[in-house]
Amino acid sequence: AKQQGRGTYRFFEPLMDAQARARRDMEADLRTAIAEQQFEVHFQPLFNLARKEISAFEALVRWQHPVRGLIPPIEFIPLAEETGLIIPIGEWVLREACRQAITWPEDIRVAVNVSPVQFRNTGLNAIVLQALTHAGLAPDRLELEITESLFIENVEATLASLHALRAIGVRVALDDFGTGYSSLSYLRAFPFDKIKIDRSFIVDLLKEDGSTAIIRSITALADALGMETTAEGVEEVEQVDILREQGCSSIQGYLLSKPVRDDEVAGFIRQLQSR
Ligand code: C2E
Ligand code: CA
Ligand code: CA
Ligand code: CA
Repeated sequence: AKQQGRGTYRFFEPLMDAQARARRDMEADLRTAIAEQQFEVHFQPLFNLARKEISAFEALVRWQHPVRGLIPPIEFIPLAEETGLIIPIGEWVLREACRQAITWPEDIRVAVNVSPVQFRNTGLNAIVLQALTHAGLAPDRLELEITESLFIENVEATLASLHALRAIGVRVALDDFGTGYSSLSYLRAFPFDKIKIDRSFIVDLLKEDGSTAIIRSITALADALGMETTAEGVEEVEQVDILREQGCSSIQGYLLSKPVRDDEVAGFIRQLQSR
């Protein structure tokens, strides 16, 4: 058995080397990307069902790699988080998002995803404030989207940071709601402005397997706590009807639009507002 174990190890050794090398290469590429500003922010609209107008755009980062082309966030955010590179990347996204939002109508907000790693770095609040000031954007036009993994460690410091941001008017949304293990306790711990209902619940809406009842419960809970709700990943008209009936405040998804480049946002606003 011992010999077999060693054999297995030898067999995997080159594979592990290759993986480690790929990781090192990607980390080096990420550093170059930051220095050479190879990132792009795309924007996806959130549509308010009662007012029938766009309420916000969510900023979603992409990496325009010189060789590999456009790389989606799922392929580089985890490594950026492990290496801490998410801090400069996240700062750039925040500044870029605020810089774009100031060119939009005043009643349209910008939503920015913030990684728990950015929160662990004590400078986050100053970075947010600086991005707002630099762009001349009112704090209540910025909404930070956080996931509940944020609360796993350092709860006290995280809550203090969130309260300070909220005190200056920045809005805070709980992203991917319903995917964690104890979402409800976080609603008690912090007064979010909004709950974003995870796409997995929206996908199942048309199956009528209890998803409608879950959506109704979430919107009732949000109402009672004075929070708005956004349904993520809406792709079908039929889903919109159910979501409206169940009291959801706003929707987001490919039905309305995929994330678009910054220069496409203005035309998009005109088109949707004139409906
Ligand atoms: P998320 O925050 O949950 O963002 C929603 C994701 O769902 C986006 O993917 C969006 O393009 C996609 N989506 C929107 N509507 C639909 C739909 O109708 N159907 C389907 N199938 N998908 C839809 P994207 O842009 O690839 O981003 C993936 C994740 O990467 C985000 O999930 C977020 O967790 C992370 N991310 C993106 N940008 C940033 C960023 O600037 N900073 C950080 N820390 N994370 C980011
Ligand atoms: Ca998000
Ligand atoms: Ca989400
Ligand atoms: Ca998600």
